[in-house]
Amino acid sequence: MTRVHDLLIVGAGPVGMALALALRDRGLDVALVDGRGRGASSGDPRVLALSRGSCQTLQRLGAWDGLDGTPIRRIHVSQEGGFGRTLIDAGEMGIDALGHVVRAGDLAQALDRVLGADGPTVIEGSRVASIEAGDDDVVVGLDGDRPGAVRARLVACAEGGIDDSAADVRSRDYGQHALVTLAESERPHDNQAFERFTAGGPLALLPHGRRYALVHTASPQEATRLAGLDDGAYMAEVDRHMAGRVRLTRVEARLSFPLTLRYRSKPTGPRTVWLGNAAQTLHPVAGQGFNLALRDVWALAGTILAAGTGDIGEARVLRRYARQRRLDRAATITVTDTLVRLFSNDIGPLAAIRGAGLLTLDACPPLRGLLARTMMFGARAWS
Ligand SMILES: Cc1cc2nc3c(=O)[nH]c(=O)nc-3n(C[C@H](O)[C@H](O)[C@H](O)COP(=O)(O)OP(=O)(O)OC[C@H]3O[C@@H](n4cnc5c(N)ncnc54)[C@H](O)[C@@H]3O)c2cc1C
Repeated sequence: MTRVHDLLIVGAGPVGMALALALRDRGLDVALVDGRGRGASSGDPRVLALSRGSCQTLQRLGAWDGLDGTPIRRIHVSQEGGFGRTLIDAGEMGIDALGHVVRAGDLAQALDRVLGADGPTVIEGSRVASIEAGDDDVVVGLDGDRPGAVRARLVACAEGGIDDSAADVRSRDYGQHALVTLAESERPHDNQAFERFTAGGPLALLPHGRRYALVHTASPQEATRLAGLDDGAYMAEVDRHMAGRVRLTRVEARLSFPLTLRYRSKPTGPRTVWLGNAAQTLHPVAGQGFNLALRDVWALAGTILAAGTGDIGEARVLRRYARQRRLDRAATITVTDTLVRLFSNDIGPLAAIRGAGLLTLDACPPLRGLLARTMMFGARAWS
């Protein structure tokens, strides 16, 4: 008889591996499949701001120790060409850090290390080409190095993207690209991050080791121009945006990522659940993509384990998961999308509203605390 796994995870990126870890040693037959070789994600050069909640989850998964994260103790938020600014301070909330900054590749490596050689079956070099859900199981067709079919009760798709042709996908092209790079500065960062809103898009400086990791959004044409500048000219552009708050002294090559919001209106289907960038691909403005994904992963693992059923792909299990995640998911997508659209322009009345918002936040510690807790823990902060 053909083997039927309890769960097949498509994509051994950080999200897929986190799910495999959350279900490890629980008596479930879990397999992972990835189009690339094992460990390929460790080359991901992006730098991620992990919320405090994500750091706690990674600790529970055993993947935090050995990860060289840089604490974020303060976040300075301001807008270029407008009044208002606010400072979110971990000390004011009685905690040591709002989150930590890690290299995405290092995070993937840490997760892979904990999964270990004796972890779940990993099918490498095989791409999932089709998914057919039936009454009792789902048949996943593979091509690549090991073509064939795999059966499972449930398939969790964490393949890192959403095909526009999928049935229930909503999307918005922001007309922005993110340039990412690492830079040294005249003065030490002192564990302070900056979020500077400019008319072309947000510019984030995250403390990373002794340097800053920059996520610099701009129109595609402007991003191409910025990527082509020599280092001195590029640093002068960043210094101009930062208006003296930070002065860069050395910068590395810039990599560009196109930014489009894409999300499935429902993250579940027959015997299928979508996670991470396969469920929603967000603008990096608030650094929420992986953080939201990890909250989804943790909730899904909890729902599966609480179901106490032999068939974890049953519709009632997926319904319970989708219900549990509805508010946090909708709020995170909406807040991220609103921030990009409200802040990425130089329309006078909007600049005044933004300035008033920043001043209100600055004058009102409880409001600031609520915002910080939301960024750290998602909608759980409201209960
Ligand atoms: C510039 C930028 C900055 C960001 N900053 C932050 C931040 O500060 N904080 C934050 O929380 N998030 C941030 N994000 C978002 C974060 O990077 C993503 O949420 C996260 O990397 C998604 O991981 P994933 O596992 O879903 O996908 P991926 O890392 O893309 O992994 C997908 C895996 O699936 C495999 N795969 C693909 N297709 C198939 C197939 N058909 N069959 C088999 N395998 C397949 C791939 O080989 C890959 O290994 C940022 C994103 C960008 C672009």
